[in-house]
Amino acid sequence: MKKRIQLLPDHVANQIAAGEVVQRPASVVKELIENAVDANAKHINLLVKDAGKTLVQVIDDGDGMTDTDARLSFERHATSKISKAEDLFKIHTKGFRGEALASIAAIAHLEMKSKTEDSEIGVQINIEGSEVSQQIPTVTPTGTSIAVKNLFFNIPARRNFLKSDSVELKHIIDEFQRVALAHPTINFKMIHNGNELFNLPTSNLRQRIVGIMGSKSNEKLVPVNEDTDLIKIRGFIGKPKYAKRSRGEQFFFVNNRYIKNNYLNHAITNAYEGLLKEKTHPSYFLYLEIDSERIDINIHPTKTEIKFDDQHAIYSILQSAIKHSLGQFNIAPVLDFEKDTSFETSYQQHQSPIKIPEIEVDRDFNPFRDENEKPTSQPSFQPERKSNPKNWEDLYNFESAIADSTESEQANLFEETQFKQASKCFQMHKKYIVAPFKTGILMMNQHRAHFRILYEELLKNITEQHAASQQLLFPLELQLNVHSIEIFKELKEALENTGFSFTKMTNQSVVINGIPDMIQESQVDQIIDELFSEFENELPETGFESNTILAKSLAKNMAIKNGVSLKEDEQQQLINSLFFCKDFLQTPDDKQIFINLSVDDIDKKFA
Ligand code: ADP
Ligand code: MG
Repeated sequence: MKKRIQLLPDHVANQIAAGEVVQRPASVVKELIENAVDANAKHINLLVKDAGKTLVQVIDDGDGMTDTDARLSFERHATSKISKAEDLFKIHTKGFRGEALASIAAIAHLEMKSKTEDSEIGVQINIEGSEVSQQIPTVTPTGTSIAVKNLFFNIPARRNFLKSDSVELKHIIDEFQRVALAHPTINFKMIHNGNELFNLPTSNLRQRIVGIMGSKSNEKLVPVNEDTDLIKIRGFIGKPKYAKRSRGEQFFFVNNRYIKNNYLNHAITNAYEGLLKEKTHPSYFLYLEIDSERIDINIHPTKTEIKFDDQHAIYSILQSAIKHSLGQFNIAPVLDFEKDTSFETSYQQHQSPIKIPEIEVDRDFNPFRDENEKPTSQPSFQPERKSNPKNWEDLYNFESAIADSTESEQANLFEETQFKQASKCFQMHKKYIVAPFKTGILMMNQHRAHFRILYEELLKNITEQHAASQQLLFPLELQLNVHSIEIFKELKEALENTGFSFTKMTNQSVVINGIPDMIQESQVDQIIDELFSEFENELPETGFESNTILAKSLAKNMAIKNGVSLKEDEQQQLINSLFFCKDFLQTPDDKQIFINLSVDDIDKKFA
């Protein structure tokens, strides 16, 4: 019988392994920088072209390699970092699996130059898709330079799968920052398409964090220091009032390796209990040192997940260390007299009005639902309204009439409909606007209604490229870090179309001298912060998509909050404007804006 099982040729095995190690240009960046750190480099320079699609190059002044080692480094499982299984339990280096270079060489054009301190002359090796095309002596400084070009040249599917340059660059910056934060004593530089994005000199930890996160971050940091037999914890946490909507500034290192661990993240956020605004996340830069025999970093090829011997103990030490820091630096509410003023006017308090127990609105109640039908958790008006036009006569007539009328007709029609509003509206719970109509009663959530109105207005301004702007007497300077600069560049034009205007822009900041007339100067910081956090995780591929996200984020943050009292004419204005919207049933994030109770429904309740 013919033999069916065959050993895969090396280059195929390498390509398969590469799939695990190299997902995108950022993975190459991670592996190359980590190798430079492992080689004891003092200076590490990262050069990137076209978000790594054309070039990723890392130049270090570390130990370098002899020509034999240089050649061997591309073999799979070739590593100088461990030699026996037991070594796996005492790892002090970033790498140890010996598969990064072999993997990268299998799927790119790679050029390595390296020289050790002791050799006069260095070596240059060129590899394309695992094939060594040349190996020659070369003049090169001590250390190693590895240039990776045309990533995925031989796996077109992979290459096509790559995201836009801004998305890929963001991933690269993430990896770069993680290593740079773990090694403040090493000089790091990053250059993208000729622009220097980072230049981080040797420094202490605090300076390194500030060098990466921007000068404004300094005042936000609180030190953490805890020594126990099991672990040492050091680093910084962000003051609660600076907590952000995104998790972008959460860094957790174990033995100087960046790792992700939800369980320990929970310990950290738990320590902030009661101190954070709703839906915000604290920043942290925490460094754990633990005996390497007590952890297992071998569970994932990219080594960002690890297992601890004693998770529970670490959880509680971590949590109490953070509580301690928050308390010591006068941030926790334990010290009532000197309470940070920011807690007095917390967002949460604003947002949760005092409850009046008698009135309850059944949010699941759907006026158009058949009695026998099972209730659905998300009542939707859209599908049912066509089949039951009677109940909501006035509004629906209004709506369809609006759809095919001219603007002046709209105004007339509108007056008519408004006229049908049986009596004045009023505000309930500082949250709902209640308006009796001839056919029933309408209850509208004020925040959601305003969210929809602003959203449509902003989107219109962005696409039509005109908006009312107010000039600021004193221009505002907005501090940006490298991340947000990239996001800002993408959004600048759309922001200008909403009424923002900008003058100076550096690598660290941008000056705002005009803002949309719909917003207050005091809101700008928060609105921009929230906006950036929307884009932090993924920059959209198309302008259209980013315009919608932009309009959504701005509108949401500009909209009247629940818990705010509204004058009667403001309430009426909200109702009126809402029904001029294209889609007045739902917020841009698909939440129901109002509910309607017809007289029929009310009658049924009394049956
Ligand atoms: P690992 O890092 O897991 O050992 P790699 O494939 O990343 O595996 O690297 C293979 C070997 O090549 C390393 O063990 C190291 O000896 C050598 N090497 C790679 N990059 C460098 C560098 N920048 N400087 C010196 N030696 C390097
Ligand atoms: Mg490595």
